[in-house]
Amino acid sequence: MALIVQKYGGTSVGSPERIQAVARRVAKYKAHGHQVVVVVSAMSGETNRLIDLAKKIQPQPDPRELDVVISTGEQVTIGLVSMALLELGLKAKSYTGAQIRILTDNAFTKARILSIDEQNIRTELAGGYVVVVAGFQGVDENGNITTLGRGGSDTTGVAIAAALRADECQIYTDVDGVYTTDPRVVPEARRLKSITFEEMLEMASLGSKVLQIRSVEFAGKYKVKLRVLSSFEEEGEGTLITFEEDKMEQAIISGIAFNRDEAKITVRGVPDKPGIAYQILGPVSDANIDVDMIIQNVSLDGTTDFSFTVHRNEFDKAMGILKNQVQKHIGAREVAGDSRIAKVSVVGVGMRSHVGIASKMFRTLAEEGINIQMISTSEIKISVVIDEKYLELAVRVLHKAFDLDQEDI
Ligand code: ADP
Ligand code: ASP
Ligand code: MG
Repeated sequence: MALIVQKYGGTSVGSPERIQAVARRVAKYKAHGHQVVVVVSAMSGETNRLIDLAKKIQPQPDPRELDVVISTGEQVTIGLVSMALLELGLKAKSYTGAQIRILTDNAFTKARILSIDEQNIRTELAGGYVVVVAGFQGVDENGNITTLGRGGSDTTGVAIAAALRADECQIYTDVDGVYTTDPRVVPEARRLKSITFEEMLEMASLGSKVLQIRSVEFAGKYKVKLRVLSSFEEEGEGTLITFEEDKMEQAIISGIAFNRDEAKITVRGVPDKPGIAYQILGPVSDANIDVDMIIQNVSLDGTTDFSFTVHRNEFDKAMGILKNQVQKHIGAREVAGDSRIAKVSVVGVGMRSHVGIASKMFRTLAEEGINIQMISTSEIKISVVIDEKYLELAVRVLHKAFDLDQEDI
């Protein structure tokens, strides 16, 4: 008998029929004698609908109240999934994040899980119940409802698996595993049988939304056995996130991630002297805005250009701070912004032992006439910022150049 946590995403609970299919899968696992905890997202499209609704009332919604509104989608699906299980003759009970007591900090709309009181769940499981938990939501120490950021149900699933020391956490979604890149953009993308935890962490943080990054962090920290699978297929082994590298079979590049969520800001004509980076980025960071790629050019005439990227949602706020507080203060010539950029990254632990990956990436983009605006590298990834309009082309040609569409030998 195993203890299994199954997380189902929005499309997987997107209709009454899909919910019934979830219940049938859970019933199958129960019939094999396993204990099952189910974590569900809201029905697909529901969280977006709720955000739009909130914005009709308050264009910049109050974060506490926004969480009250957007957490409701998951409350609907836990009830419906429990009902579907009851209809199949199983014992089932739904729980909201607050009822379990998934304790988070109070950073509304992007809260972090601090602890999970797993005792309730254990008692119910011991009584033969399937426990159905709302993903994406928690409660802070004052009882306020919080949410965990978009895609946060993945994190609920993995965190519960970690708290229960479950044998496996299965993430059921609308694709049958983790692919070499988003199969919706590159039809030739291939499912990976496994991917190392380190690579998955990079892929998730660089834009592959198949798993929320915090769920991968949790899996790494608590050594949760994590598998991504399709809820639309009866069989299939999906993709296992592994902790060991298989050196023999390791491809140099495992995947390509991309995102359109960032915007670029350039401060031009900045005096090149100590303390400038801090004077530019300090106020941005004080406003709680995360900065990603940073580039500073060498100066010729004692001034330089300083560029960095921020999340598009925070672009206007960051531009405001730089124009109003920073530009005059440091004597910069101009603050320019571009929100039509995209970031494309190649990821692979094999990069550690191979040279020439960066030049191959740059050559491939050059051959298509794609200009690289920014570059950043780590041991296992190379990222470039390009004009958004070339994003799909860039991903496709890189996918081919690195032989990712070739079948495993
Ligand atoms: P869910 O609602 O089940 O959480 P998501 O939409 O959050 O599903 O994540 C699944 C989607 O992630 C897929 O439909 C796919 O378009 C996208 N995706 C992006 N990158 C990848 C990748 N490398 N492998 C698989 N899917 C990916
Ligand atoms: N329903 C939430 C969202 O759409 C959480 C999730 O699906 O993981 O972001
Ligand atoms: Mg998701």
